[in-house]
Amino acid sequence: MSTVTFVVDCPYCKAKVAAIEEGKGERFYSDEDSNQPYGERIHVGHCPRCRTLLVGESQQVDFEGYDAYEDRWSDVVRVYPKPPKAFSSGRVPRVVSESLAEADRALQANASIAACVMLGRALEALCRDILHEPEGHKKKLTLANGIKRLRELNHIDDRLLDWSQQLHAFRNLAAHPDEISISRQDADDLQIFAYAIVEYIYDLSDRYEDFKQRLAKRKDRKPPES
Ligand SMILES: [Zn+2]
Repeated sequence: MSTVTFVVDCPYCKAKVAAIEEGKGERFYSDEDSNQPYGERIHVGHCPRCRTLLVGESQQVDFEGYDAYEDRWSDVVRVYPKPPKAFSSGRVPRVVSESLAEADRALQANASIAACVMLGRALEALCRDILHEPEGHKKKLTLANGIKRLRELNHIDDRLLDWSQQLHAFRNLAAHPDEISISRQDADDLQIFAYAIVEYIYDLSDRYEDFKQRLAKRKDRKPPES
C-alpha cells in the first residue's frame, strides 16, 4: 500500500512537512435553509523527520457539481501539538483574537513578516480597546502612543512594555516594503510575547477580580480570626 501524506507545519522542525497519514476523519453536511454544503477533514499522522505526532484540519472550499468542476480543500492547519491559543476571558475583542489566529496561520506557512504585521495589529486593537478609543475617531491612536499610555495607566509593567516595544519595532519593519527578513524563531518569540500581553491584560485581570470577590464574600460571612 502506498504511503498517504498531508502537508502540515511541524512546530519542532519549524517547516512544512509531508506528514505520514495514519488516520482521517471526514464530515459532510449541508445547511438546511441555504443548501450550502460543508466538508471538513481531520488528518492524523506523524512528521517524517522528527516523528512527532501531528493533527491537522482542513475545510472543503469548492464542491463538485455545486459551485465548481472539482472538489478543492483548504491547506491543512495544525491543531495539535500547540493548538491555536485560546483565552479564558470573554472580554478579548474579536479583532484581537482574529489577528492572533491569522498570525498563527502565517507562522505555520513560514510567513514571518506577515505574522509580525498581524501581531502588531492585535496589539494595536488591544490598545484601542483598553484605552477606549472611540470608533471612527479622527486622529487614530498610534501603536507607539497606545503602548506608552498602557504603561502610564499601569495596565502593563516595565517588562511587558519592553515586549510591546519589540513587537512594535518588528511590526514597523514588517509593514514597510524594504528588503528585510525576520526569522521564524524571532516571530515565534514575538507570538509568545503577544499572547502573554493579551493574557495579562484580560485573562489574569478577570481571574484576579474573581479571586478578590471570592475573598470578599468569605470575609463578609466570617470575620478572620486574629
Ligand atoms: Zn518534525
